[in-house]
Amino acid sequence: MPPLLPDVRAMAPEIVAWRRDFHQYPELAYAETRTAARVAELLAGTGLEMRTGLGGTGVTATTAARPGPTVLLRVDMDALPIQEDSSAPYASRRPGVMHACGHDGHVAMGVGAARALAARALPRRVRVLFQPAEEGEGGAQAVVRDGALDDVDVVLGVHLWNELPVGTIGVKAGPLMAAVDRLRITVRGRGGHGGKPHRAADPVVAAAQVVVALQTVVAREVSPVEPAVVTIASVHGGQAFNVIPDEVVLTGTIRTFDAALRRSMPERIRRVADGVAQALRCRAEVEVKEGNPPVVNDGAVAELAARVAARVVGDERVVRPEPTMGGEDMAIYFERVPGCFVFVGSANPARGLDQPHHSPRFDFDEEALAIGCEFLVAAAEEAASRGPWTR
Ligand SMILES: [Zn+2]
Ligand SMILES: [Zn+2]
Repeated sequence: MPPLLPDVRAMAPEIVAWRRDFHQYPELAYAETRTAARVAELLAGTGLEMRTGLGGTGVTATTAARPGPTVLLRVDMDALPIQEDSSAPYASRRPGVMHACGHDGHVAMGVGAARALAARALPRRVRVLFQPAEEGEGGAQAVVRDGALDDVDVVLGVHLWNELPVGTIGVKAGPLMAAVDRLRITVRGRGGHGGKPHRAADPVVAAAQVVVALQTVVAREVSPVEPAVVTIASVHGGQAFNVIPDEVVLTGTIRTFDAALRRSMPERIRRVADGVAQALRCRAEVEVKEGNPPVVNDGAVAELAARVAARVVGDERVVRPEPTMGGEDMAIYFERVPGCFVFVGSANPARGLDQPHHSPRFDFDEEALAIGCEFLVAAAEEAASRGPWTR
């Protein structure tokens, strides 16, 4: 199959080089200053209108077409607090910080797409947004507050995806990624001597039973055909082997798609946690902090994305991904304007490039970069030749 966009394909070696540079200098949420400066530098002289400092470190590059309804391509820039386990020559040079989700590749694809779009005559304005702090830190809200969505009528974004083989693109209309809420439970008892438990109210035993009892919220209270997750991911309490502590703190996450189910979860968790704790002479205080809503792709935009994906990789390599209980702050944009978030297959098991996202051994097949970039450019062109989009 001849390439859909030869100019983008010709840029492939550069896109890989940019990705490796970003990979070596990963930056955590809101600290993406080198990344942002590099993006601005790589797009200087292209004729794109540049804005920097959105939501702290965000960057936008907007084509010169006249003001009016604007197509937004969004990529994210932040890395994770993970020590990379890699012998690649482009491994992270920053101890304890790593691009373990593929956002280095997203930035590189965004730069490539912005350059390619700058060289085209487009019927409408296209803006490429380099967003900070995707990993649970509110970056989307921050750039929206600073005007990243002004005039935007449709949003497209991609995520490199190691759950799909390189050469495929995953597109799905409707719910794709879950709502993500944070959970913190403080189990309070009364500390005492480890040898005299009857004189204390032991929050360690109560917390252990709370963890187990919470498993019944999804297993026994939620319909078996409705996706939901309650995970307790950390347990903290006590210091000494012979001292019963006053309290134990549990943290975790709640994942749902359905809005009514999402609203019902705090009450369910409170009832089970505090009920179990009280039975054991303790109390449980439950705090739920709302995070991103679910990522729900717009039907018409997903249709356009699937069509464009088929032109990039061929009909038979466009797949319909399973919804995932992972979350993404693309959801923040989709609350306001229609859009579609697309998975670009990046796994290559034969080369050992198939570790899960957020693993210290995460890496992906760089062939995916040109594919993703081609998709972004072609999708932006097509979205700009239609619309304005409404829901
Ligand atoms: Zn991630
Ligand atoms: Zn990610």
